[in-house]
Amino acid sequence: MQVRWNFKLKPNIGHVETMERWLVTLRKHRNYALREREIGYSTNNQDVVEEIVYAFGSYCDLESRIEYGACCPLTCPVLKHGVVPEKLSIAFKKTKEKFDIKTGKLLKPSVVKWDDASGIQKKVTTELRGKSPYFGEIYSAVLQGNLERLDDAYTNFFKHGRGYPSYVARLDSFEYKPGQAKIELTNKNYATAYLPGIGNVKFHNSRQKEFGSVADIRSVTVSKESSYWFISIIVEIPDLIQELLPFEKVKSVVGIDVGVNKLIAFSDGSFALNTKPATNKKTARRLAMRQRSIARKVKGSKNRKKAVIKLARTKHKIAASRNGRNWKVANDIVKTADVVVREDLKIKNMVKRAKPKHDGKGGYTHNGASAKSGLNKVILDCGWGDIYNKIAWLALKAGKHVIAVNPKHTSQECPTCGHIDKANREGEKFLCTNCGHTDHADTKASRTIAKKAGLVFPKNEKTLRADCAKVTAVKRTTDGVVSSNHAFGTSGEQLSLFDTTVYHSPDNRITKKYGRTS
Ligand SMILES: [Zn+2]
Repeated sequence: MQVRWNFKLKPNIGHVETMERWLVTLRKHRNYALREREIGYSTNNQDVVEEIVYAFGSYCDLESRIEYGACCPLTCPVLKHGVVPEKLSIAFKKTKEKFDIKTGKLLKPSVVKWDDASGIQKKVTTELRGKSPYFGEIYSAVLQGNLERLDDAYTNFFKHGRGYPSYVARLDSFEYKPGQAKIELTNKNYATAYLPGIGNVKFHNSRQKEFGSVADIRSVTVSKESSYWFISIIVEIPDLIQELLPFEKVKSVVGIDVGVNKLIAFSDGSFALNTKPATNKKTARRLAMRQRSIARKVKGSKNRKKAVIKLARTKHKIAASRNGRNWKVANDIVKTADVVVREDLKIKNMVKRAKPKHDGKGGYTHNGASAKSGLNKVILDCGWGDIYNKIAWLALKAGKHVIAVNPKHTSQECPTCGHIDKANREGEKFLCTNCGHTDHADTKASRTIAKKAGLVFPKNEKTLRADCAKVTAVKRTTDGVVSSNHAFGTSGEQLSLFDTTVYHSPDNRITKKYGRTS
């Protein structure tokens, strides 16, 4: 299994200067190559159903594609895939010979062919390294890899429905292929990465123990984020993923309800608080101040640049704190039980702008757009999607199940009588208008979510208290009882979903808080 690990680099001033220069050159290189391909494409194979294979000497005029015959002196070279090099000698490539493995006979002899855009640009780049000191100082494989990244962007566009490769105003990373960069563990806190062309760069090694289980180090990427440098290493770790636990052996289940006031409500009655990394009062004020500071400075001035860096650093810190909190929350959720049940939320639809409201006289009335945009900010600050992704990964590693259920009526349905009503919920309180069942609204929602997975079993003598912090298995006491609504049609150990009727004291709950608020 290949995993990507990220570490913070600790470059010295010399390293930083070199890497900054590299990024500028690489950006120019990429943008130039992209433009060259575009020009080539627009002048050659435009509006042609069947690809035209041009032969050297066939055409003289690119616009009219008039053929003057073989005796005509060629005025410009025309190539199939676009790029037109200065020297024609690098426009060709020799294809490899193919042999039949069994008989050893030659199937395809080597042929001289027109090279594709990538191949030609690679050869031009190699020549460029001798001419320009800026290109010359970059490690050649990194420079060639830059073109391969452009190839990938094109492949994504043509084959995987992604956007057309764009010109970049700021390139922020470069990559070493497997076997080029070397990692050496120096001491407890640091490791050294030998990056060809740059030198030995220290990085903060936060995975000292885990490095022991690494079988192979694959590609290494160096990236810049605001004013910090990072190194990300793809490592090969065997046996990282445990086998999926069969449903017969599942012993516990936890439902989670994501929210704004309480980030996560567990079905065992505990909560994870929402630290609101970007929207808490202190940080929101700081962000506004930093933004205002940029707005007040003269465009293009040095002071403005400094202010931009300050804002970027603040945003980076916010993102880092949210990321760390989400890992802790996800870890706690996955550790709680064998099966995690969550809602199948469409977060993109939840953060849409408020629709305009017509007043019936051809105009508009207040539609609460300002309040909605504030709520959207808070929702995005929670990072629910990120938490879901992290749960999925951690569960996969531990061999546990994650089930996504339909979120319809999870907050309105009464767990005892099944009555669905909007009026059941009032803020954080849940009070059934039909039977009078009371509960914390989020906790109740998480239990409804857990039930929706279909892993509900007949009640046992031993039931788990609803506000008990741990989710443990309850063994089947009577034989022959087969669950009728078990989603997977197996009759294993009996599960008891938290008995919500015994729940009465809201003060005993465990509330977890992660990270700092600023
Ligand atoms: Zn009810």
